[in-house]
Amino acid sequence: MQPDDCLFCRLYREADPVHSADGFIAIKDINPQADTHLLVIPRRHIDSFREIREFPPEEARAMLDFVADTARHVGLEDYKVVVNVGPGAGQTIFHLHWHVLGGRIRGLA
Ligand code: AMP
Ligand code: ZN
Repeated sequence: MQPDDCLFCRLYREADPVHSADGFIAIKDINPQADTHLLVIPRRHIDSFREIREFPPEEARAMLDFVADTARHVGLEDYKVVVNVGPGAGQTIFHLHWHVLGGRIRGLA
């Protein structure tokens, strides 16, 4: 179920990704908190990581592989993967996404 008004559902269709695979894209964060700051966005809309059980197991596994592949694709050996879950943890966009941060990291850590 993809809400019409979800920014990341729209970006999934329209953004120019730095890396993509079936069901997943990686884009540059518009307000980077690190030398390299990418967002991994799955095509499947769930509001947050809290609902991760709604992902079929093989799709959840593919998403984790895509996170690692994205970091490798942009040349990151060492990096952080961050998921904010809920407003109290800093989540502002309610479509599950993974932050991939490399180099000098300023926030989100
Ligand atoms: P979070 O706070 O974990 O929900 O992360 C949302 C992230 O999306 C923030 O780091 C924002 O800078 C980023 N963001 C918001 N709008 C856009 C956009 N149009 N393109 C790329 N990144 C965005
Ligand atoms: Zn969405």
